[in-house]
Amino acid sequence: MSFKSSYLNEVYEGLAKRNAEQKEFLQAVREVFESLEPVVAAHPGLEKNGIMERLTEPERAVLFRVPWVDDSGKVRVNRGYRVQFSSAIGPYKGGLRFHPSVNLSIIKFLGFEQTFKNSLTGLPMGGGKGGSDFDPKGKSDTEVMRFCQSFMTELYRHIGPNCDVPAGDIGVGGREIGYLFGQYKRIRNEFTGVLTGKGIPYGGSLARTEATGYGLCYFTKEMLAANGMSFEGKKIVISGSGNVATYANQKATQLGGRVIAMSDSNGYIVDENGIDYKVIKEIKEVKRARIKTYPEYVSGAKYVEGSSGIWNVPCDIALPCATQNELPLEGAKALVSNGCKAVAEGANMPSTPEAIAYLQANNILFAPAKASNAGGVATSGLEMSQNSLRLSWTFDEVDERLHNIMKNIYANAAQAAEIYGMKGNLVAGANIAGFTKVADAMIAHGIV
Ligand code: GLU
Repeated sequence: MSFKSSYLNEVYEGLAKRNAEQKEFLQAVREVFESLEPVVAAHPGLEKNGIMERLTEPERAVLFRVPWVDDSGKVRVNRGYRVQFSSAIGPYKGGLRFHPSVNLSIIKFLGFEQTFKNSLTGLPMGGGKGGSDFDPKGKSDTEVMRFCQSFMTELYRHIGPNCDVPAGDIGVGGREIGYLFGQYKRIRNEFTGVLTGKGIPYGGSLARTEATGYGLCYFTKEMLAANGMSFEGKKIVISGSGNVATYANQKATQLGGRVIAMSDSNGYIVDENGIDYKVIKEIKEVKRARIKTYPEYVSGAKYVEGSSGIWNVPCDIALPCATQNELPLEGAKALVSNGCKAVAEGANMPSTPEAIAYLQANNILFAPAKASNAGGVATSGLEMSQNSLRLSWTFDEVDERLHNIMKNIYANAAQAAEIYGMKGNLVAGANIAGFTKVADAMIAHGIV
């Protein structure tokens, strides 16, 4: 399938040739290009300024060796990445992912999406992403610490509070950020806000941990309200059981919904009485165990092997909060045939293009990740503000700012879609609203 615009075709073809193996990255670019057709048609200056060529090539990408010693004394080597995608509107900002599936394509798709997501927050943050194919699963605390120290021993020279501010993502939570921060501080002999998602005693922001899940629900609440609906009395299915899924459960429940299914990469649990997010948190963060053990704590819950089956659980609202491409066409079909009314993405690019097209064609409300999961990075932006001011806001102050940011993102995405004749299409609206600011800044900076 090609684009209507010959400019977009030319840029995409060149990109596909240079990055033939990078399927996730090309998938993310294609989606944005499709949304931007009417914008490109209305603004010839974009082609003249080479905006699409420049936006799809990261400003810088660093690949590095991460050697570390495991508990048995054996030397192990992983690959580290930091892709600094765009600094058009602020310092590079985006998480670090530690997962065996990490490769350049995954990090580039995440960094590319981050650029638009960060722009949507209204805060001055550019886009970046990094990580490693290191798998923290099954590693001891000291192994994770040695890995993080080695990773930062290279990364420190590429980052800084006014240059590039990493945070967490899959496999990088409070524990990892603590070890990474400790090593940065030691090497640089500087106490700065170089990372976000920090612990509260050393410069972290209250409500940062909860922010992505809460933000997802605030966004979904706006989308539902605009269509005469609410969370009240709704059955909700949430894939995943990490940080995003856990706090999406808490907030959705507070807003009157009932979370009846959650999952991890092995399988899913169902409890029609509602899943307790506190038990999930205990299993995942304290015990570092699998979701399979949930029925040991709560009677009445049942476990089913195989994570993709979760989309067959009938629900009103589905929140994919696990990982990219976890909601395929078959999952979307199951959701529609079981009467689902809304899908809002908590993970990055969790729905395949075919799934999104199917949901939209069947009039399911659909919230794209760039907009609906922006609450995490938005609150990282608020953590940066607090660090620069050398003060800390209360939980309620941060939560209120987050709530307003999510309302604005919804309003801006909905408005952008309407202006370009695609009312209700939040995928297009989010891509257009995120893009416009970045493109304007790039034009103002000249060809750099
Ligand atoms: N990893 C999160 C995301 O995908 C948060 C990034 C950050 O806080 O910098 O947006």
